[in-house]
Amino acid sequence: MPRKVIAIDGPAGAGKSTVAKELAKRLGYDYLDSGALYRAAALKLMTAKLDGDASDDKIMEILKDTHIEFSNGKVYLDRADVSERIRTPETGHYTSVFSTKKVVRDFLQVLQKAVGNTADLVAEGRDMATVVFPNAYRKFFITANEDIRAQRRFNQLNGKVSFTDALKDVRERDKRDSERTVAPLMKAPDAIEIDTSNKDIETVLSEIMRELA
Ligand code: C5P
Repeated sequence: MPRKVIAIDGPAGAGKSTVAKELAKRLGYDYLDSGALYRAAALKLMTAKLDGDASDDKIMEILKDTHIEFSNGKVYLDRADVSERIRTPETGHYTSVFSTKKVVRDFLQVLQKAVGNTADLVAEGRDMATVVFPNAYRKFFITANEDIRAQRRFNQLNGKVSFTDALKDVRERDKRDSERTVAPLMKAPDAIEIDTSNKDIETVLSEIMRELA
């Protein structure tokens, strides 16, 4: 039976993960990082030497025998913990490429809906409120300006890329995520928008908790 889902969407670096994780903890809900599932799928496809030109059949051939699970904040690919490996800039790039494919999105949507059937959930991603959980109990769209999001990405990657590359990456991902034909990143009409540019996590969380009260 579908449970209570709080859907949080927004672009890269807007602060969704930090907010979603902490919100889930405070509410005693499960937490779903749908981006981690997309990253794990991309890691599998990259390892199989596929790229963005691969046919749907080829992609499905690999994915049909792939096991991806998100549990207790960690992501497992074919039962191996890949939580660290999925965070490299290269995997991030391929994730944004493969996530434009319907065949990949359909495969992962089944997994996401299954999680939403078993537990009350804070689910974060790009299409939680619009596609995967359109009947979510509450919907939030978290944004921040481009420079701040690039700075957060830069800090997160801990010197692995320059600020200029982090900004380029944020721009490229925004473009690909918003312009794709399948499940593009967009604010659901009934989502509450929160701009985190000049707010700390506590302020954002209290805004959300106020909406939920
Ligand atoms: O959230 P995160 O930055 O880890 O997501 C990585 C990539 O996965 C995004 O840039 C986006 O292309 C894709 N993604 C998606 N739909 C989701 C979650 C992530 O397309 N629901």
